[in-house]
Parts: sequence; structure tokens; C-alpha cells
Amino acid sequence: MNTYDLVIIGGGPGGYTAALKAAKLGMKVAVVESERLGGNCINRGCIPTKALLHAASVYTDMKNRDRFGLLASQVGFDFSRMQAYKEETVDAYRATIQEDFDREGVELIMGHGTLHGNRIVEVNTEDKSFFLQGNHVILAAGSRPIIPDIPGIALPGVYTSRQILGEREWKFDSLTIIGGGIIGVEFATIFSELGAKVTLVEQQERLLAKQDELISGALKESLEAKGVEVLCGAVVESISREEKLAANIRMAGQWRQVVSDAILISVGRRPRMQGLLAEDAGVELENGLIRVSDEFKTSAEGVFAVGDLVSRIQLAHVAAAQGTYVVEKIAGMAHGTQLSVVPNGMFVVLPVVPNCIYTNPEIATVGITEATAHKYHMKVKCGQAFMDRNGKSIICRENGGFIRLIFEAYSNTLVGAQMMCPRATDMIGEMATAISNGLTAFQLTMAMRAHPTYSETIALAIEDAMRG
Ligand SMILES: Cc1cc2nc3c(=O)[nH]c(=O)nc-3n(C[C@H](O)[C@H](O)[C@H](O)COP(=O)(O)OP(=O)(O)OC[C@H]3O[C@@H](n4cnc5c(N)ncnc54)[C@H](O)[C@@H]3O)c2cc1C
Repeated sequence: MNTYDLVIIGGGPGGYTAALKAAKLGMKVAVVESERLGGNCINRGCIPTKALLHAASVYTDMKNRDRFGLLASQVGFDFSRMQAYKEETVDAYRATIQEDFDREGVELIMGHGTLHGNRIVEVNTEDKSFFLQGNHVILAAGSRPIIPDIPGIALPGVYTSRQILGEREWKFDSLTIIGGGIIGVEFATIFSELGAKVTLVEQQERLLAKQDELISGALKESLEAKGVEVLCGAVVESISREEKLAANIRMAGQWRQVVSDAILISVGRRPRMQGLLAEDAGVELENGLIRVSDEFKTSAEGVFAVGDLVSRIQLAHVAAAQGTYVVEKIAGMAHGTQLSVVPNGMFVVLPVVPNCIYTNPEIATVGITEATAHKYHMKVKCGQAFMDRNGKSIICRENGGFIRLIFEAYSNTLVGAQMMCPRATDMIGEMATAISNGLTAFQLTMAMRAHPTYSETIALAIEDAMRG
């Protein structure tokens, strides 16, 4: 049996980031992956969706060419070539991880991994089965989509995000999306920009229910301006098929039928536990899920679990930060990234995880909202600035958008930021750095912001907050 310092089950961001970190620290590492290196993020999630969003946004710019004085005799898209571009992007990105593995000497073993007792991992490939022994094991098996128990859910034309990303033919003149969370609103953006008639059905009273109401409201407006029909407080009770697919929806005690060519299910994801733990693994479960400590330790000695498999926040950078944390702990090092921070003298734990939504305009948030501050009786100063006076926005003919910043009122420390504007997903990094380091409004204004950039509006939001 081959032995390793670290065996990892799952080659997504949680697994591959941990593997590379461990190898750089001199550990002998094996990663067991049953599908493709890169996990959901690279193959079926972050990267392919952002590639399609990019293509859809270029298409929108092409349709709006008049406003820049540009001429083109024909503007259109070829869905199968867009999908090919997306595949090339995914392959190129996956290749960089494989190169990193080769350079750092991480062994990638393709097969299904099952954990037994004493950190023994059974690997099953199509034609053989063998065992590996790890001094430590990290479980990073990720998640899979939740398929709601709705009559008609298995009808042809009903897709998961993975299936729709694999579709080469354009079959989406009209699309109903069940679920108005991050994945649902991103797909609504892609398909509406490509000209599909999109209906977004969300059972909560607003889109992105975990976000600030301000963001939910502004997003609804922006999607509706693109022609998306947004139905909130609405539940799809069944799906039937005649010529097209009909989603039968209950909404405010009334029934409504939405007919479309295709339906996308995006109602959330659950940990992928199938065949991961053998009976003798010794890993305790809670409600069928792996129980972990704050340090991602399972109940089995030397076995950790990270990423979507155990995390309340299912994001690639969270999985990667957790994987790094575990490896640094194994190596006896202090961990750099703050997974949360408690500001001096306050009782609110500030989440410092940037949350990005790649709609058009983009949405990005970090820290707390004004509503959360009030809930915890934290006195705050809030400042808001709009993008319609921003030079870069005017140049690019961007419509609307805003930056909102929340400061703790006594120290003027930044505790939250919500942005809905172009490049919000890049600019949120500055805000995350500021919150993690307890920077004040004064410290945030010490650096100049280049002109013309979208980030100039950050200075106006700070000024607005400090005025009050
Ligand atoms: C459509 C979509 C868009 C997304 N967009 C974003 C985004 O823009 N930004 C963001 O931060 N997050 C995004 N996410 C979420 C992100 O993909 C996940 O949070 C991230 O991939 C989790 O990483 P992970 O390592 O925990 O698991 P995964 O990436 O799911 O990787 C787990 C890997 O383990 C393998 N595996 C599972 N079981 C076994 C086994 N028993 N043996 C061997 N291998 C196994 C799987 O094949 C998989 O490759 C998106 C998700 C989706 C679905």
C-alpha cells in the first residue's frame, strides 16, 4: 500500500489548493478525483458560467454598438461556438492546475475514493481497486445540485446547471428558471442577454434572499429592464409537457402557468456523500452530514473535511481558504486568512468572505449590512454614492449602480460594503482587506484613487457616510 503525508479525496478548489500548499511545504501528497481535476468550480461552475457571461456581455455590447459610433453589418451568436469557447476556457484553466501539480509533484489518482478507518483510502477505478494510506486525510468531495421533488421534474427539457452547460444546441427561446439565488440570477443574465424570454421563479419574497433588500430590489429592476419576468413568493408545484414545458406555479393563493422551451433547476446544492465513507471510517455524522470542528476536524483522528462538503457558505474561495487553513494547521503554521473577525469591544462576528454575483451590473458584498448592524444593536454610519456621476461609467455608458459602505459609528471602522456596479467583483477585494484589517474611514481615504476609474466612487461613499 502506498503511503503519503496527505491524501485528499476531491480535486476541486478545496482539494487542489490544499494539495499544492502541502506539496510546497514538502509533504508527499495524493489527490483522488473521480471526474475531472478542478471540481465543480473549474468544470461545471465558476469558470464555465463566467465564460458564458463574458460572451453574453460582449454580445450585448455589440448590439449597443451605435452608442459608441461603431458599425457592423451583422451581429449574432452561434451557441455551439460559444459553448466551444467555454470548453476551451475550462480546459485552459484546468491545464494550469495540472501544470502546478506536475511542478510540485502532487500525484493525481483518477478514481472514486472511499475513506476507511486509520486514514486508509480505497480507490476504485473502472478496472481495479487499491488502497492508499495517509498520515492525514482531507475530504473535499464538494456538492451536487438539489433536485426538488416536483411531479414532471425528470421530463426532457428540464436541466440542472451542469446539463445546460453541456448543451450545444440553442433550445432556449424561452426559459423558466426555478430558484432566484446566485446561480439562478447568473443564468437569467446569460440567457436574457442572448435574447431568451426568461421567467425567474423564486419562492422567497425577493431574489437573493440572503442579501440586503437594497441589492435584491435593484437586481429585480435591472433584470426586468432586460425583459426577465421575476415572480417572487412563487412555488413551482408541477411540470407538464405538451408542445412545450409548462411550469404550474402557486403564487399568493392563485395559480399561474408559465410555458417555455426549457426549465433550469437552481434551488441549491447539497454535500456529495455518495460512497465517500465506508462503515469503518469512524467519521461521525449529524443529520446525514459530516460533523466538523471550527478547525475542520472530523471525529476521526487526522481526518479533516472542507469546502462545499461541510461549509455553510458554498464558494470556491471559501473552499480554498479552508483547505489552506487545514494544511497550515497540519504543518504547525499560523493561518493568514481571517475566516471571521470580531472587532474590538463588539459582539458581532463579521463575515469577511467576499460574495460576488456576476450579473450585469455585477454585485459584490462583504461584511455586514445596515439591517444586520441594527439587529445586533450596533450603531453605524452608512454612506452611499451612485455611479451615474462616475467618469468611467459615463465613458462606458453604464446604467446606474451604487456603492454603499457601513462604518461602526464610534471608531469609523469599515464593517460592511455592498456594491452593484461594473467591476464590483474586483473592487470588493479592497473592502475585504479593509474590514479584515480594521481600517477606518480616514485610513481608507489616505490612498488616492486613479481617475477615471469606477473605484473613485468608493471615496464619495466614504465622504457621504462621514457627513452623517
Ligand atoms: C453553476 C455554478 C456557478 C458557480 N459560480 C461560482 C463563482 O462564480 N464563484 C464561487 O466562488 N463559487 C461558485 N460556485 C460554487 C463553487 O463551484 C463551489 O463552491 C466550489 O467548487 C467548491 O469547491 P470544493 O472543492 O468544495 O468542491 P468541488 O468543486 O465540488 O470539487 C469536489 C470534487 O470532488 C470529486 N469527488 C466527489 N466525491 C468523490 C469521491 N468519493 N472520490 C473522488 N472524487 C470525488 C468531484 O468529482 C469534484 O471534482 C458555483 C457553482 C455552480 C454550480
